[in-house]
Amino acid sequence: MNAFDQYEVWFVTGAQLLYGGDAVIAVDAHSNEIVKGLNESRNLPVKIVYKGTVNSAKEVTAAFKAANNEEKCIGIITWMHTFSPAKMWIHGLQELRKPLLHFHTQFNKEIPWNTMDMDFMNLNQSAHGDREFGHMVTRMRKNRKVVVGHWQDAEAQAKIATWMRVSAAWADAQDMLIIRFGDQMNNVAVTDGDKVSAEQVLGYHVDYYPIADLVAEQDKVTDADIAGLVTKYEKEYEFAPNCKEGGKDRNQVIEAAREEIALRRFLKGKGAKAFTTNFDDLKGLDQLPGLACQRLMAEGYGFGAEGDWKTAALFRTMWFMGQGLPKGCSFLEDYTLNFDGKKSAILQAHMLEVCPLISESKPKMEVHPLGIGGKNDPARLVFTSKQGEGVAATIVDLGNRFRLIVNKVDCIKSKPLPKLPVASALWIPRPSFETGAAAWILAGGTHHTSFSYDLTVEYLEDYAEMAGIEIMVIDENTTISDFKKELRMNEIYYLLNKALC
Ligand code: MN
Repeated sequence: MNAFDQYEVWFVTGAQLLYGGDAVIAVDAHSNEIVKGLNESRNLPVKIVYKGTVNSAKEVTAAFKAANNEEKCIGIITWMHTFSPAKMWIHGLQELRKPLLHFHTQFNKEIPWNTMDMDFMNLNQSAHGDREFGHMVTRMRKNRKVVVGHWQDAEAQAKIATWMRVSAAWADAQDMLIIRFGDQMNNVAVTDGDKVSAEQVLGYHVDYYPIADLVAEQDKVTDADIAGLVTKYEKEYEFAPNCKEGGKDRNQVIEAAREEIALRRFLKGKGAKAFTTNFDDLKGLDQLPGLACQRLMAEGYGFGAEGDWKTAALFRTMWFMGQGLPKGCSFLEDYTLNFDGKKSAILQAHMLEVCPLISESKPKMEVHPLGIGGKNDPARLVFTSKQGEGVAATIVDLGNRFRLIVNKVDCIKSKPLPKLPVASALWIPRPSFETGAAAWILAGGTHHTSFSYDLTVEYLEDYAEMAGIEIMVIDENTTISDFKKELRMNEIYYLLNKALC
């Protein structure tokens, strides 16, 4: 089953009745053909449903109200076949709460130079109808994505596909429950924030549960449950000698499996999609649940260490967008710098919790002591990441708003770390180590990130539009002086924005 089968995107065509009955019939036929063509292109992850042509304010409002109330509908695509006077869209746009994509396309690909007459002109007026519509959306300060291109063009379809994946993740976030075991790591600022605002702006809900509840779940795990899971581990991973049956740390693998089963059951039982842990709050657990966090991330559970619920949520959202894409995503932390001229890079790792989806080869099960947390030696999957381009993202709370920060990075070949047996990646931020890291720090970015190889900046831009939050992008075009100007301008923009709307 396709991960997005449960969703629909609605296609609404704008027109008016000025051109007569024949035009109405033609508009409808063309819209049906476009929607059929888009669905049959196999380039779109979500099914499009044609919801008819709207010719009046009443029809627009009815269509948008229905979209709001249909859970399966994750967004609306609008297209103006003829001229569609935009005052008729005002009330509907006031109602609309689903993500909006305005598709500036045209039924015919090329101008029929020799046969085009005034009737043809009146019927095929996207060139100015879409501008009239766009004006009203802009005037009403409604966020949306504008995609320009012929509907059979693969590049235009790819932009729609991106928006669909983001719309699905946006829908997923609206009932996302994030469970926190423990609070923030004491005194840490950047991973904290306003959970009430997060629910208003980003949709998800953050709840606390005592670690004792997880311990109680753990007590119900049977030896047979554990044996089944450890067999699975043995199929999926290489095993260090001390982790194999009869090895001196075999029991630590067994205890890690117990924690994983308990954690999964607990999250499922509560209907949670993400969670956080805190190494200072593990009373009753044998070890820091590193392996469990790694494997649950790979299943799509959002994770943030040390109480970092914002990164847990963002990971879930980015994982959701990227379902079915090949290269993977992970929670990561800026660990250590490697100054090496043009190849200066940042080692990405964590105490244990890195998602095996980004591994370049079969991960290795290992058990080693961990100096922090005061618990028994934890099991973990050790690997280095794939190489290639990706995006690192974070959301910070600036007190009056959320800011999404995105950095394009290039993962390069990491070296073995015989004395630091954790999973890791090694990346060079764009446009360079120095500028990328400076811009990230100027933007107030975290040391924790949600990273993906499969997503591009476009996905996160679409997400920021839907959420109505600020986005700061650091890529190959970033210069520090322009970046600082944008930060200063945004301070003013977000102060004034509410007053203008
Ligand atoms: Mn951390």
